[in-house]
Amino acid sequence: MPCRLVQALVIASPGEIVIVYSLKCENSHEFEGWFGSSAAFDEQSATGKLVCPMCDTHKVEKAPMAPSVAGAKKATLTADEVKKMRQFMTGMRKYIKENAEYVGPKFPEEARKIHYGETDERHIYGEATLDEAKELIEEGVDVAPLPPDLDEEAN
Ligand SMILES: [Zn+2]
Repeated sequence: MPCRLVQALVIASPGEIVIVYSLKCENSHEFEGWFGSSAAFDEQSATGKLVCPMCDTHKVEKAPMAPSVAGAKKATLTADEVKKMRQFMTGMRKYIKENAEYVGPKFPEEARKIHYGETDERHIYGEATLDEAKELIEEGVDVAPLPPDLDEEAN
């Protein structure tokens, strides 16, 4: 299997941690939610602020984290659901680009340095192969796949 490039984000700043949860709604839509803390997730969950970006249901819960970022799972979505998903992903990418530093292919190296305290703690994003991303996860480095830029791909 050829190595596939994945884009990943490391979350390293203490006090400014963003936690990524895989979420699943009652209609089996799976998506990622970004939270400032696990308490923020609990609060949003308890107050019904969690909403599925595809069907607007508030019945959303944590799904087991899928370690595979290259899964070839195909979901059947309506045009409206696809549109909502695109908006959701575009918003997430925007958040990352505004809040993280792009380090390109040096991502695995930089992520490790941050994890082991060898450089300034900050949010970074960049490219890593799937194998590199797996190694980072095994070492306990917080990485998450960056959602694809769907608008760019559509051009
Ligand atoms: Zn849904």
